[in-house]
Amino acid sequence: MAATWAKAPDFADQPDRRSEVRAQTAADKRRYLEDGLTPLRCHSCHGQVLVRKASAHQTSVQWTTNPAAHCPVFAELAAGGSAPARPDTCPDLERTIKWAVDEGVVEIID
Ligand SMILES: [Zn+2]
Repeated sequence: MAATWAKAPDFADQPDRRSEVRAQTAADKRRYLEDGLTPLRCHSCHGQVLVRKASAHQTSVQWTTNPAAHCPVFAELAAGGSAPARPDTCPDLERTIKWAVDEGVVEIID
């Protein structure tokens, strides 16, 4: 009896917490998809972004982390300080987005 009581909190607690995290992730994913945003991670620098593609030639990228903290291209721009405009992507991320579109991970929204 004592052993059963000692074990009870583990079993009662963990599955709940895990399903809560799962539910949150699913809710986030639904919210992104409703906005036409697909979470992607740059294959090269592993920066996390949300990508929305309105047409073959129109892509909008939202960084969910500070790009300069992950991406050497952004870090160099930040260090140089003379970048004319803040770019959305780096060449590596562009390749990642192209791959994602080819694979059907990112869908083009009309
Ligand atoms: Zn990058």
